[in-house]
Amino acid sequence: MQEEKNIDLLAVHYKKIIDLLGEDANREGLLDTPVRVAKAMQFLTKGYNESPEDILRKALFKEDYSQMVIVKDIDFYSLCEHHMLPFWGKAHIAYIPNGYITGLSKIPRVVDVFARRLQVQERLTLQIKECIQNTLNPLGVMVVIEAQHMCMQMRGVEKQNSTTTTSDFTGVFNQAKTREEFINLIR
Ligand SMILES: [Zn+2]
Repeated sequence: MQEEKNIDLLAVHYKKIIDLLGEDANREGLLDTPVRVAKAMQFLTKGYNESPEDILRKALFKEDYSQMVIVKDIDFYSLCEHHMLPFWGKAHIAYIPNGYITGLSKIPRVVDVFARRLQVQERLTLQIKECIQNTLNPLGVMVVIEAQHMCMQMRGVEKQNSTTTTSDFTGVFNQAKTREEFINLIR
């Protein structure tokens, strides 16, 4: 299987990396580490093998509801593409249907698929927005993401408590009043 072959290859490289970092990859505590890291990294990037558009398209329901649908406090974990260190936080998503809704559990799954790739928070925000806009074709969609970045906390500027917020929107969310309604409801 391709996946198992990749784990073996990844493990070979991680063993090398451990040595290059100044450790002894053959010492007892580290013997299984390369394979474990390989499996962990494969899990953390499994979003490459999934289609978020398909997830939404398979759960489209015709519905006349035309008020705001909000799914808030969606936990996510991602890896920054610059350092391959974790960033994590919460996503809040709203859309206003235009004849079609999707299963509520599908929205967090879409977040997950995009988060389980090498990312920057800005693109993660934009990709979720575009995916929902292109599949549900709502009157508007808005995505707000609040996250903490390990690459800021553990290295570099070492700012422990700073949160980065990004947002993006389409359609009716261009109106400040609609954005405010959403922001008030996620506070
Ligand atoms: Zn980073």
